[in-house]
Amino acid sequence: MLTLRNTRALSTKAPLLQRRILVASPRAVAGGQFQHANFSNKTPVRTATHPRQAAAAVPAAAGYQSITATTPPASPHSPQNNILAKLPTPALLRNLLIQNVSAIPPVLSFFLFFLKRYSNFITKAPILRQALYYFFYVHYCAGATKSEIGRTVEDLRKLGYKGVILNYAKEVEMPGLSVKSGAEKVAQAQALHEQQVGQWLDGTVKGIAYAPAGDYVAIKFSGAGTRVVDMLEKNHVKPDDIFADALDKVCEAARQKGVNILVDAEHQCQQAAIDRWTMDMMEKYNKGDNVVIFNTYQMYLKASPSILAQHLATAESRNFNFGAKIVRGAYLGSDPRNAIHDTKADTDAAFDAAAEKLATYHTASPRPSIKVSTVIGSHNATSIRKIRALRQQQASAGQPVADVVFSQLMGMADELSLSLTEADTDAGFVQGDCGVYKYVTWGTMQECIMYLARRAEENRDAVACARDSRSLFWNELKRRWSPATKRA
Ligand SMILES: Cc1cc2nc3c(=O)[nH]c(=O)nc-3n(C[C@H](O)[C@H](O)[C@H](O)COP(=O)(O)OP(=O)(O)OC[C@H]3O[C@@H](n4cnc5c(N)ncnc54)[C@H](O)[C@@H]3O)c2cc1C
Repeated sequence: MLTLRNTRALSTKAPLLQRRILVASPRAVAGGQFQHANFSNKTPVRTATHPRQAAAAVPAAAGYQSITATTPPASPHSPQNNILAKLPTPALLRNLLIQNVSAIPPVLSFFLFFLKRYSNFITKAPILRQALYYFFYVHYCAGATKSEIGRTVEDLRKLGYKGVILNYAKEVEMPGLSVKSGAEKVAQAQALHEQQVGQWLDGTVKGIAYAPAGDYVAIKFSGAGTRVVDMLEKNHVKPDDIFADALDKVCEAARQKGVNILVDAEHQCQQAAIDRWTMDMMEKYNKGDNVVIFNTYQMYLKASPSILAQHLATAESRNFNFGAKIVRGAYLGSDPRNAIHDTKADTDAAFDAAAEKLATYHTASPRPSIKVSTVIGSHNATSIRKIRALRQQQASAGQPVADVVFSQLMGMADELSLSLTEADTDAGFVQGDCGVYKYVTWGTMQECIMYLARRAEENRDAVACARDSRSLFWNELKRRWSPATKRA
């Protein structure tokens, strides 16, 4: 019988504070337009006019200024915009329910214990299954079939988001070997490796097929099984032929569809191999106008700024486009503490500096010959507003606008994601300047259950800081149900 021994999915156990946002990438600009690479060899670019550049009345700024000097005052919940007005009432109610349950630690702890311990029972008992489905699964997950995922993506687009980052929840089964030694053990381990990589490949290729062209699919190398984890931890220079072949198939499918692959960052002990393998994939697939492959940089690691600088230099010297997702890092509780910045403030500074470096790379003199595309994976409103401001400065100055997009997890930080789709006149932000992509997990309820448990855990961490957020949701609910609003 197979036992789930080691299942690693994107673990975002670290506190997700209530101010959550993801920023996405700026695209190369030409003649007042910035291009959004389609990453397809057929139709290489989709274009959009930056609203700031389109507005003839907007005076050009004197030139690029440091974002630290010009970031507008933080007002993540801009009073001028009723940012939650677009959110459907069921989503509003689910947000409130989850936030309020999360605010009572014993209730949340009991829920988490029950979810993890009795997941099989819950997904089979009709009433519990329905409750889990409506209150959690629908809130955090996209569905399990192409049509369900398609509907979720459509609903998200109606809210003003550009698209999604699709992530398959299923975790590869990691059974132990039944034979202890000898040739039989070797053969069994090989068969298991092929089976695990096959499962991983199958799920990843399905995700690419379900993702709209131009959107993203997130992959995790450690999800491909025991031997891949072992190769990562032993820092193999290259993956073996079986996994290398699977990676090629994934990249090729993504290139043909025009979907972008985001390689997740994982535990620090695996990261050197993940970086090297991903850079090899970038070199092969990020050619011409394409930026198919993105590596992830965890800016809580002290080493990340120099690794990022080295990778940019390598991309430039070997002439391939560079895709980067930057995050703060999710393994605060398990990565070696001495490898991580001593304080949160240091992590914040490293994150903002990396975002600025990537978002201004294309304006260097002489102009670099490669494209740099960036995905900002963060729920931190302050960091996101800095990059939003920087891009607006670039547009106002008539410079090419950085190819940056923003991303937050589906079901979380909706107030921040929605605020990015709106203008903010206090801060001088115009509507339509940001590409916002929700990070959406797909799979059956059984496959998503550990992912749901992680989201619940994050809510426990986040809730202490979520008071503003809860009152925003309450106020919106009261507004909707007030007699005056109903009459209007
Ligand atoms: C779309 C998306 C994709 C993601 N992909 C990945 C991924 O591939 N790999 C990955 O590891 N994570 C990933 N994450 C999670 C991410 O790394 C963070 O854990 C999470 O987003 C919280 O950080 P924040 O930027 O939202 O902001 P905040 O809530 O402001 O920051 C919290 C983070 O700050 C850091 N921190 C907290 N306390 C300290 C301290 N005392 N000292 C130093 N640093 C501290 C930790 O990284 C913590 O997670 C992703 C998140 C999103 C939204």
